[in-house]
Amino acid sequence: MESRYLETVRRRVVVFDGAMGTSIQSRRLRKEDFLEGREGWNEGLVLSRPDVIADVHESFLAVGCDVVETDTFGGSRIKLGEYGHGTAEDVYRFNFAAAQLARRAADKFSTPERSRFVAGSVGPSGMLPSTDDPDLGKITFDELAAIYAEQAKPLIEGGCDLLLIETSQDMLEVKAAIAGFRKCFRDLGSSLPIQAQVTLDVTQRMLLGTDIGAAMTTLEALRVDVIGLNCSTGPKEMRDSVRFLCENSRLPISVIPNAGLPENRDGHAVYPETPADLARHLREFVAEFGVNIVGGCCGTTPDHMRAVIESLQGVTPRKRNLN
Ligand SMILES: [Zn+2]
Repeated sequence: MESRYLETVRRRVVVFDGAMGTSIQSRRLRKEDFLEGREGWNEGLVLSRPDVIADVHESFLAVGCDVVETDTFGGSRIKLGEYGHGTAEDVYRFNFAAAQLARRAADKFSTPERSRFVAGSVGPSGMLPSTDDPDLGKITFDELAAIYAEQAKPLIEGGCDLLLIETSQDMLEVKAAIAGFRKCFRDLGSSLPIQAQVTLDVTQRMLLGTDIGAAMTTLEALRVDVIGLNCSTGPKEMRDSVRFLCENSRLPISVIPNAGLPENRDGHAVYPETPADLARHLREFVAEFGVNIVGGCCGTTPDHMRAVIESLQGVTPRKRNLN
């Protein structure tokens, strides 16, 4: 049976939430709010200040977003291990708590006519398995797959509707993540849709040089359910790659850019696009290319997402033949 999420994506444009990181920063938390006083450790907040994370989710649901992402971007044992919490029990505890927070928020806003969804966010491990870098390359495919399987289980059991591998820089790591997810699905006897999003720089290549054509071919061969792009640049820089995906793939396409290309001002990243700018670009991607899923990455606020949702009213997406 097709999942409710994919069924909705086939029927209408689906809108993801905006940035978790920027939203947390805007709340001006104190050192004591962070778990063990580790300032900037966003994943720890699901245990130390679950109310803050719930509030971020609700701020995006309240403006009409269909999907919220769990606060688990850095929820792998490698990333949690950087804070001394890299055991199997830790991975379960953080990811399960985050999934439940997002689930409760989504359910609060769901109606019988309109479901809201939870995407289990899975970010890069920080390793680059395709490289021969003496530190970052020192991990095997099987080790990485096991790390992703371990993170997927609590996300699924915590109530996610899909698994989202995002901000991917290394296609070998994407392959390992998908292998890990599938192992977890076999173990649990149930599965979720997989949405895989890669990150392209201003030259429209991944960190290790993979272009969008190669990434698309690999992701289709891996039978993911949705292919997408997120982070690194604003929508303008993504335009050619978005068009390429829409013209060449028969899978649903997601586009989740930053609020413009970040500018460095006094050592801080500033995201220049206003809500109206982001909304105009995403609306064009839907109307001209037939993008199925939009959302906001770094620098995007509830105001950005409200503008995106308003701009999509009455827009007819360009028809694409989906599988
Ligand atoms: Zn981003």
